[in-house]
Amino acid sequence: QNNDRESMMVLSAFAQKYFTDTLFNHVDGKTIGMSYFRERGFRDDIIKKFQLGYCLDTRSAFSQYAGKQGYKKDFLIKTGLSVEHNEALFDRFHGRVMFPIHSISGRVIGFGGRTLKTDKKVAKYLNSPESEIYHKSFTLYGIFFAKKSITQENRCYLVEGYTDVLSMHQAGIENVVASSGTSLTTEQIRLIKRFTTNVTVLYDGDAAGIKASLRGIDMILEEGLNVKVVLLPDGEDPDSFAKSHSVTELKQYIADNEADFISFKTKLLLKDADNDPIKRAGLITDVMHSISVIPDTIIRSVYIRECSKMFEVAEETLIQEMSSLRSKKI
Ligand code: ATP
Ligand code: MN
Ligand code: MN
Ligand code: MN
Repeated sequence: QNNDRESMMVLSAFAQKYFTDTLFNHVDGKTIGMSYFRERGFRDDIIKKFQLGYCLDTRSAFSQYAGKQGYKKDFLIKTGLSVEHNEALFDRFHGRVMFPIHSISGRVIGFGGRTLKTDKKVAKYLNSPESEIYHKSFTLYGIFFAKKSITQENRCYLVEGYTDVLSMHQAGIENVVASSGTSLTTEQIRLIKRFTTNVTVLYDGDAAGIKASLRGIDMILEEGLNVKVVLLPDGEDPDSFAKSHSVTELKQYIADNEADFISFKTKLLLKDADNDPIKRAGLITDVMHSISVIPDTIIRSVYIRECSKMFEVAEETLIQEMSSLRSKKI
């Protein structure tokens, strides 16, 4: 129901203001939440722009205040801001720093909350549950703040996490979004496609990030977009890299390491294929598989030519291989 959705968005906006106010003005907000953001090197203008906040580490300070302000229990539960236990409401995000998630038009539709604890047993991030206003797989973190720049630069950087988006903005790179908390979906790619056809995947430089990049590449190609990949040094993510390097170094690293998907896959997979012809053949098949999902015939043939040069395999052979790969799909 539309009325319910509106009520939930009004509540979410109220919660965001409350968490931000806590961060800036409450003693715990300042000494715990703000100190955390400062230690991580986030500037005030970025904290304000992204409307970051802090949820007090009490059982129900937020839920009670919201109740007193007239916000209905039903909506507190449906937005996931509160959880019900024995008829009483508790603050889902208590003790966490808050990252509001905005819709494409800039309204708050959900939250990510990061724990300040280093205890591995505590989930690092908690996200709002699926609801009438928050559909994870249709949402990209940062899209509202990025859309103008994505259009201007005609490129979108895709990162993994909230803090990666923040740090890139802080470094002056604003055409960046995160798939936060879910693996990339086709709907998220279509959202990007409204603004550009060029995507650069900039995932964490760890095994999980590489695996997600490989998966992401094929999905992005399938939607008919051009995709490049930047592989970060092992153990780094865009946030950590931006913090240990200057803005110039970050931009230079991206410029030097932005590879089209064929070179990315080749470089990555060739490492363990060395001179083994069977492994090499496997790699060619792998790259050919990525090419086969591209909807446009002409773009496919351009990539086939590139592939033929790179692996020193006759173009004719690859063209035949492509028809067989494509016919298997239909
Ligand atoms: P930080 O720099 O604050 O440690 P990160 O963004 O580098 O966080 P990653 O572990 O790289 O964290 O995860 C990437 C993204 O995946 C996070 O930003 C978050 O959106 C999501 N995520 C991570 N851990 C969880 C979790 N336990 N539950 C839900 N989502 C998570
Ligand atoms: Mn990671
Ligand atoms: Mn990370
Ligand atoms: Mn990180």
